[in-house]
Amino acid sequence: MVSRVIPVDAFDLVVFGGTGDLARRKILPALLRRYCVGQIPPNASIIGAARSGMERAEYQEFVRIALQEFVPEKTGTAELEGFLERVDYVQIDARGTDGWADLVARFPQDRIRAFYFSVSPVLFGDLAERIRSNGLVNDRTRIVVEKPFGRDLATAKALNAALAAHFDESEIYRIDHYLGKETVQNLMAVRFGNMLFEPLWNSQYVDHIQITVAETVGVGGRGEYYDQSGAMRDMVQNHLMQLLCLIAMEPPAKFDPDAVRDEKLKVIRALGEVAPYHIARGQYEAVPSNPQAQPSYREAVGNPRSTTESYVALKAHVSNWRWAGTPFYLRTGKRLSARSSTIDVMFKDAPHSIFGESAGRHANRLSIRLQPNEGITLTVTIKEPGPGGMRLVDVPLDMTFAEALGPTAGETADAYERLIMDVIRGNQTLFMRGDEVEAAWAWTDPIIDGWNARGEVPEPYETGSSGPAKADQLIARDRRVWQGIKP
Ligand code: NAP
Repeated sequence: MVSRVIPVDAFDLVVFGGTGDLARRKILPALLRRYCVGQIPPNASIIGAARSGMERAEYQEFVRIALQEFVPEKTGTAELEGFLERVDYVQIDARGTDGWADLVARFPQDRIRAFYFSVSPVLFGDLAERIRSNGLVNDRTRIVVEKPFGRDLATAKALNAALAAHFDESEIYRIDHYLGKETVQNLMAVRFGNMLFEPLWNSQYVDHIQITVAETVGVGGRGEYYDQSGAMRDMVQNHLMQLLCLIAMEPPAKFDPDAVRDEKLKVIRALGEVAPYHIARGQYEAVPSNPQAQPSYREAVGNPRSTTESYVALKAHVSNWRWAGTPFYLRTGKRLSARSSTIDVMFKDAPHSIFGESAGRHANRLSIRLQPNEGITLTVTIKEPGPGGMRLVDVPLDMTFAEALGPTAGETADAYERLIMDVIRGNQTLFMRGDEVEAAWAWTDPIIDGWNARGEVPEPYETGSSGPAKADQLIARDRRVWQGIKP
């Protein structure tokens, strides 16, 4: 099954931070791929902007090298050359006056203008102010900002205020690349496109829900940043919270940006306080046989006394009519046994078993795999085949999307491809609204403040394990178990 490509209107896109890591690894490759499938019109322009002094040809060469590394299959193609023709560069200082007149001159036409802030958030306010004061704003202007959007409620509010001083909320696109993943959007399709699940989607039928985002990698080269952040800020406040919203929200009246975001916001605001004993934090240890290649968290971040968590598990409650009494168990961590993002919806046991005690307990489970092997598995109870009487067994009804939809379904667009095209189209559905981000921090802040006030130290866990023992205890207290981290 081949997806249709609907070209976007012609645009000018400025990538502030066009020489940075994110531009090289994600933004420019995503643009090239969309150009190659014919979604980007040939008269679009992409303008890198940063303080480094470079001529247009030098920047084109810089972009070529990045694309050869990150989109190697396009090396030497006419498409790559065509794309590079669209690329320009302006030397500019977000905090100064240099370069702004040059940038103004790059907009000969009144058409869609997107300004991608692929720079440190400390520059957001300066950029917003200068874009406005240099007269670069038209009625089709979009501002794209990256995570992290603040490190707590106060900083998120300050960033929102800095942007709101110059732009309307309808012009601001806050990227959480998780929302651009094909399968995350599929959550909405599975829930609201099928009659089958929605009637059962409540505390009467759902015992509990588990949301797992497990990584096998450690902090890598991001040690210094990560140690200031930790799993709660880096993953829970944004990615896991977004998954929780999509699983728990009420059906919006229509698939429209504000209708969807209104419903997500209601979920975040309905989240109850999390008691300290409903949280487990961990920090990964070195692999004893190979401590050089796989050092401990503290060695990796260069902070032998670090109390930042590389793992967190918690039990959350959505306090509303639909979910009262159904806990949501969230967990995420680094250096775990497998890379896997899965949501397990655990249904309740049948109210009465006609098969008697000996048949055992059986409950349905809907597992939604976001990565890898995107797909869904519904576990159903059937009779164990054979003449041995009525014994029951749970079997999976498994659908891997790539198998069901054909091989090209596996080649889904990268999240950045989808999100940047949505920016150009002016569709904010998959972007976080300012009030959503603030509500998420308002829920997260007291948890982090509590750890700091109590001087809590995360529990060490083995690299390649499923996390610290406390996480198992957290769910075992409720007579439940974590579903395996499935690769
Ligand atoms: P980076 O590699 O450090 O790049 C920063 C860019 O900003 C460079 O192009 C730099 O170029 C430019 N810059 C710095 N000061 C400037 C100024 N005063 N005026 C104009 N340009 C300036 O950072 P990055 O990894 O690309 O990350 C960019 C943003 O995305 C950050 O907010 C980061 O947290 C976020 N993010 C990154 C990733 C990732 O995978 N890298 C993922 C998610 C979010 P010059 O020095 O030449 O000016």
